[in-house]
Amino acid sequence: MDAHRRWLIDQYGSVCAYCGVEIPEDRTTLDHVYPRKGQTAYDRPDNLVIACQPCNSAKADTPFVAFIAQRRARGVFLLHYGEHLSDWVKDLVRQTSEREFLPPARPQFVHYAGNGNGNH
Ligand SMILES: [Zn+2]
Repeated sequence: MDAHRRWLIDQYGSVCAYCGVEIPEDRTTLDHVYPRKGQTAYDRPDNLVIACQPCNSAKADTPFVAFIAQRRARGVFLLHYGEHLSDWVKDLVRQTSEREFLPPARPQFVHYAGNGNGNH
């Protein structure tokens, strides 16, 4: 097991930083929280967390901010299990999660444009 992963498990336990689920150590993956393409500092520990397989693959297909915004719990867990992350990453997570605290859209204010007979 590489040093980054060992360190993270020692800090937080063998827990996914996105869903908070406990996972066997040998099934953890190391996730780059914010992909910084083309930079040599890519593997800095302040950009790495432990993730379970499902979260890791869900995140691979989704831009970071959208991934956090999809489920508010992800941001909450990430701030908890990612205490060591760079401040700018944590700020980004906080802002993204807080956006989710806005009241949900109220369906009763949505106007139904059609009149039911398709004649418009
Ligand atoms: Zn997970």
